[in-house]
Amino acid sequence: MSAVLEVSSLGMRFGGLVALQGVDVTLEGEQVIGLIGPNGAGKSTLLNALSGFTPPTEGTVRLDGRETTRFTPQQYTSAGLVRSFQTAQLLEDETVVSNLLLGRQRFSHAGPVRQIFGWPPHLKSERAWLDQAYAALDLLGLLEFADARASSLSTATRRLVEIGRVLLAEPRIVFLDEPAAGLDAASREHLAEVLRSLPGRVGCLIVLVEHDVNIVRRACDRCIALSAGSVLADGPTDEVLARPDVRVAYFGE
Ligand code: ADP
Ligand code: MG
Repeated sequence: MSAVLEVSSLGMRFGGLVALQGVDVTLEGEQVIGLIGPNGAGKSTLLNALSGFTPPTEGTVRLDGRETTRFTPQQYTSAGLVRSFQTAQLLEDETVVSNLLLGRQRFSHAGPVRQIFGWPPHLKSERAWLDQAYAALDLLGLLEFADARASSLSTATRRLVEIGRVLLAEPRIVFLDEPAAGLDAASREHLAEVLRSLPGRVGCLIVLVEHDVNIVRRACDRCIALSAGSVLADGPTDEVLARPDVRVAYFGE
């Protein structure tokens, strides 16, 4: 069953600053949902609120119908919601495979939350984990790097390894905050194609914060545009990107 994250009237205040207000969205399906908006629109704040890093000051969040508004990051992770930056640092002296295997750490916090969300205890053999790591490398086109040290990788390959590590957590929902930042055009396009293929192949929902509209067009069928802490538009990517109000907010047109 694919995950459903329902966000109702969500708000976030930092002292007098209103970073998010009245956000109503339902994130669901095995797809990549783009989250766009100008700098300061509240994209990272929304991801932080929906992953327990900074609980919202208003509104409610439900995962699969259960309220999770006050969940801690560990509780969200145990429930299958994984953020890329949690594992952003690679172990430089370790191989790519070893770095991927670190992703299974979330199963070490087995506990009541996972039971609530219906996960059986993970008693996988080392061999099974290794097979899973190689399957993830195959999906990401990284098999040739399996035994390479992390320190020898290009920036673009590192980003893919970071995503591979997220996949080892068997996520239901993945939040990626600008994973293509700093990559050249060809690597960005490759990353977009890889991201587009993942939800159907591993059965997850990806929420992608991304500045580059070409990446959003390539990777996302649905797109949510934030402006000044509120949802300006939410729908099929082409329609959202064509809207005059989105173009004004996002491109200053
Ligand atoms: P985006 O990721 O869309 O560029 P952010 O979510 O980082 O935007 O920021 C939205 C607004 O919230 C900005 O005005 C930012 O300065 C403010 N903000 C974000 N985090 C904090 C914080 N921890 N304390 C105070 N203000 C914050
Ligand atoms: Mg941001």
